Amino acid sequence: MRVIIFAGPPHLPNGWNKRVAGLAAQITYQGRALFLRKHASWRALKSWLSNASSDKCWYCEAKSGRAPLDVDHFRPKLGVTVDGRRLAGDTGYYWMAYDWLNFRLSCQRCNRPEGDQGGTVRGKASEFPLEDELTRCNTPGGSLAAERPRFLDPCVESDCDLLAHGIDGEVKPAVEDGTWEFQRADYTIRQLGLNAFNTPEIRKKAWRLLDDLIHLGGNRPEVVDHLEQHLSGGQEYSSFFRSAIGTHRDKPWVESLL
Ligand SMILES: [Zn+2]
Repeated sequence: MRVIIFAGPPHLPNGWNKRVAGLAAQITYQGRALFLRKHASWRALKSWLSNASSDKCWYCEAKSGRAPLDVDHFRPKLGVTVDGRRLAGDTGYYWMAYDWLNFRLSCQRCNRPEGDQGGTVRGKASEFPLEDELTRCNTPGGSLAAERPRFLDPCVESDCDLLAHGIDGEVKPAVEDGTWEFQRADYTIRQLGLNAFNTPEIRKKAWRLLDDLIHLGGNRPEVVDHLEQHLSGGQEYSSFFRSAIGTHRDKPWVESLL
C-alpha cells in the first residue's frame, strides 16, 4: 500500500462538483438503495482516481490487467458489516456516496467479496469495523472524527507505514503483536487477501530477477534505470520493491537510489 496524496487544491474534472451537488441533495435514507443504483455517478471519476496511482489499485498496488477497477467507498454507502455480520440498525454512510474524499480506487479482488475453498470470504465489500462501535457516525453531517477504522486507509501515510514487505513476497504488520495498530495491519492483510491469490509468488519471482541484476549487473546505467523504474510510484507493487531493493543498502550506489 503506497500512500495516495492529492496535491492541493485537487483539480477535479470539470462539472463534477455541480453534478453531484444536486444528487447529494436528493438522496434520502428511505430511498437510498434505489437512488444509488440509478445514480452511480462516482464511476465518472474513475479515470481521475486512476491517474493518481498510475492505474494501480490503491490497496494492493496491483495493476488491473484486463479487469476494470472499481471505485470503492471507504465508508460503505449502503450498510456496514463487521466480520461478515450486518450491524443492526446501521444505515451505511449513504450521505457520503458522492463525496470524492470517500473514494478509493480498488481492484476487484480487494473490493468485492469472494470466498475461497476453505470458506474464508475476502474483499472489503461492506466491511468497516471500528475500534469502538459507540463512536460510529449514523447521521448525515455527523462527526467522523471519533471513528477509528480497523481498515488501513491508503490515503493516510501513517496507515501505509503499518505494512512491511518481506523478500519472500509476503506483506506483514510492521508493528508489535498485541497493539491496535497490529490488529489493523493484520486485519487489512487478511481481509484484502494481500498474501492470497498467488501474489507473494508473483512478487518473489519478480524480485529474484531484480536481485540477480543487482548482483551481476552492478552499478551500470541500465541496471540503475531498471531499479529506478521499480521504485517509482507508478510501478506495480512498488512498496515491495522499495523494501526488497533496500536489502542492498550496503552498496552506496543502491543506497543513493532509495
Ligand atoms: Zn487490490
